Amino acid sequence: MKVTIDQDKCIGSGQCVMAADRVFDQREEDGIVVLLDEDPSSEQADDVRHAVEVCPALAITIEE
Ligand code: SF4
Repeated sequence: MKVTIDQDKCIGSGQCVMAADRVFDQREEDGIVVLLDEDPSSEQADDVRHAVEVCPALAITIEE
């Protein structure tokens, strides 16, 4: 799985971090998403898919 984020779309809501905290983090200063792992392991795949679903800004895309 390959994960990409669009920091220009992100509104800093943090749902992705709650869904998959080993893949996503937020910048200290403004809460904008930071990608920790662009190629997460298969055991994290469901959590990452969940993050895509709950992101209100559609800022996360994945290639399976
Ligand atoms: S869930 Fe979406 S909008 Fe919220 S911090 Fe993550 S990428 Fe940004």
